[in-house]
Amino acid sequence: MLIVMRHGATQQEIQRVMAVIRDMGYAARALPGAQRTAVGLVGNDGRVDASRLEGLPGVQEVIQVTKPYKQVSREWQPEGTVVRLAGGVTIGGPEVAVIAGPCSVESEQQILAAARQVKDAGAAILRGGAWKPRTSPYSFQGLGEPALKLLAKAREEVGVLICTEAMDAEGVELCSEVADIIQIGARNMQNFPLLKAAGRAKKPVLLKRGMSATIEELLLSAEYLLAEGNHDVILCERGVRGFDTATRNIFDLTTIPLVHQLSHLPIIADPSHGTGLRDKVIPMARAAVAAGADGLIVEVHPTPEDALSDGAQSLFPEQFAQLMRDVRAIAEVIGRRVVEPASAVA
Ligand code: PEP
Ligand code: MN
Repeated sequence: MLIVMRHGATQQEIQRVMAVIRDMGYAARALPGAQRTAVGLVGNDGRVDASRLEGLPGVQEVIQVTKPYKQVSREWQPEGTVVRLAGGVTIGGPEVAVIAGPCSVESEQQILAAARQVKDAGAAILRGGAWKPRTSPYSFQGLGEPALKLLAKAREEVGVLICTEAMDAEGVELCSEVADIIQIGARNMQNFPLLKAAGRAKKPVLLKRGMSATIEELLLSAEYLLAEGNHDVILCERGVRGFDTATRNIFDLTTIPLVHQLSHLPIIADPSHGTGLRDKVIPMARAAVAAGADGLIVEVHPTPEDALSDGAQSLFPEQFAQLMRDVRAIAEVIGRRVVEPASAVA
């Protein structure tokens, strides 16, 4: 529920509304906006007596948020969320942010080479998994904690921001120390204890759409993060499972304008897992940016033929440089621009 204050409502009036909400047993959140200040009532179990709030001084109206997700909805916050990272890098504003790197961190030499290659091509953020969610227990599972040390080294030596996946609450803690963005993978989109742990983390979260998740389910998973207090959430379309085995997934680009309509959260696209095919990544990256994606996450490997995971969809560094040239041109056509790597990220 949203309590919209009159234009010019005093701080005292806003505080009074918040106190009454707390007195009713709910949490209150002040939402200063460009047009209006509103107070969000969090935890509405359907038994809130709106008349207690409607009559308070300074209150203009009380709005029931109709969607099942509340804090992630556009009704709750009309202005788009902008996630701010070190070095002035933003996700969700006018810029298009590119996250790139290997599926997995494999060695110091591999991750440092990848970091330099993606930064040279213009990516601001390096990706690389330390713990990998693999379908088979016999597939490479990731280097684990040592990989985080290698990512920290890449961050410091190359000057790139870091995005890496956490698979459990302990991983969230460990990733928080190194990562600028904590990734939650498709297979864990509805791992609710993990979502709660990431919701308490002090780092932005990249939440990937589950492979058979509806958009409403994606937004409700994001709601878990906001409900725990983490408002720096970036969504990601990475394809959903279809009937056709010609591609790894069906890359559902309609999600991008749809999420922009339903939610204030930024949404990026993953054409690598979305297609599973190296030569389809560039055209679908172009399409995602044209559709309004706030960024891309792309798998790039110094030598994809040697990759320990997802080699077939990983770009060669020179292909990634081409992708960046293409998406820069497309971003410009729609009045946006690709985020430049920060000169320093400390
Ligand atoms: C990944 O980013 O390497 C990954 C495992 O992606 P997803 O969770 O989308 O399958
Ligand atoms: Mn991968």
